[in-house]
Amino acid sequence: MAGVLDDADIARVLSITAHPDDVDFGAAGTIARWTDAGIEVTYCLVTDGDAGGLDEDFPRAGMPALRRAEQIAAAKCVGVTDVRFLGYPDGRVEATLDLRRDLARVIRQVRPDRVVCPSPERNYARMGASHPDHRAVGSAALDAVYPDARNPFALPELRQREGLAPWKVREVWIAGSPSPDHFVDVTATFGRKIAALRAHESQTGHADDLEERIRGWLTRSAALAGLPEGRLAEAFQVLDTA
Ligand SMILES: [Zn+2]
Repeated sequence: MAGVLDDADIARVLSITAHPDDVDFGAAGTIARWTDAGIEVTYCLVTDGDAGGLDEDFPRAGMPALRRAEQIAAAKCVGVTDVRFLGYPDGRVEATLDLRRDLARVIRQVRPDRVVCPSPERNYARMGASHPDHRAVGSAALDAVYPDARNPFALPELRQREGLAPWKVREVWIAGSPSPDHFVDVTATFGRKIAALRAHESQTGHADDLEERIRGWLTRSAALAGLPEGRLAEAFQVLDTA
């Protein structure tokens, strides 16, 4: 792994995910550390998670608004107030040129130093992390980082019609990667990560073992990182995209 940029050199981070709750499962403990350090973090969600929820009696038409509200509440738990939704249909996301343009637009608007996104690779050990929407969003996000957002001659409409100048993201952190190579100790922010996950009431309200399950994952990541027993870590694969 090449050197990871020092957080002190990072002003803005953009998290790109497919569904409400993805960022909270994968990265909320790390994001709480960043916002505590004064880094501005923006969330961009490709779908509203309208295929989610477990309550058959809840009217499906109300699901997008509910899940947006849950994500906005979860974001507050870790110091994030800028939450943007692209409104793609849940369960049908493909890495199209339209999605790349929509993500490149947000990158040019936010001008992040670092982007967090899902993996375009299937992780055979973790079905949930490899949801097809996650893989499509990971692929489109990486394409938006390179070349779309930075190439002045790519997607010229973003510049001509919207006045959005090219922007080079310096680093990408992939959450849910089959090959993690960077670990963040989130022991101190674990409680806020759990609070963020519980804010997704329609998804996690039934899960009595939520905290225990997440603690298990983060304990395994901490062990991979060689951290002392009792520590908790989130895992990423970091790409130098400068
Ligand atoms: Zn998801």
